[in-house]
Amino acid sequence: MLARIAAAAETVARPLSDINLVAVSKQQPDERIEAMLACGQRLFGENRVQEALVRWRERRGRFADLKLRLIGPLQSNKAWEAAAFFDAIESVDRPKLAAALADAAQKLGRCPELLVQVNTGEEPQKSGVIPDQADALIHAVREEFRLPVAGLMCIPPADEPPAMHFALLAKIAARNGLSMLSMGMSGDFATAIRFGATHVRIGSSLFGERP
Ligand SMILES: *Cc1c(COP(=O)(O)O)cnc(C)c1O
Repeated sequence: MLARIAAAAETVARPLSDINLVAVSKQQPDERIEAMLACGQRLFGENRVQEALVRWRERRGRFADLKLRLIGPLQSNKAWEAAAFFDAIESVDRPKLAAALADAAQKLGRCPELLVQVNTGEEPQKSGVIPDQADALIHAVREEFRLPVAGLMCIPPADEPPAMHFALLAKIAARNGLSMLSMGMSGDFATAIRFGATHVRIGSSLFGERP
């Protein structure tokens, strides 16, 4: 996988060090997680808070340099739990959640890295702020809730070419002064790297199909 990422980066003359491989461990069996850790991988993505706690709470103690990113939708009533556990939350998509995270950050005295998720395809079943409202949400997170925004995340529609979605996310990021772009999965990471991805979220191509 690393070789494929390196090749994609080289094709567009981007340094490999700019691109972080987030190993998406959701639903994967323990032996595959352990194998990945044994290979030295330390950056992982999970899409559910409870599942992540079960999988990673004990392992956190064994690997001090472990970094966990929440890449799935987050309910406001779980904001505290998520803020306490994750190093990054990639799915900030509404003011109510930002408010809950601001409250959690204050109580915890720390805040994970926050990314705003943009629903670039405006799909009703998907989380994320619609592109038209992205600037306003980023502004509100920063100014109203006083939280730093690290970057943006998107999941393009499964049945469309991803390039225009990645380009749109990069454009919204640029005009808001954001450099972190979480985009690209097993099927489209090379395109995402071409459009500036700093974090590619790879599950099945790395671990094998989810059972
Ligand atoms: C599951 C998931 C991935 C990984 O998908 P693969 O196709 O298995 O690489 C990436 N991002 C999000 C948000 C996911 O839920």
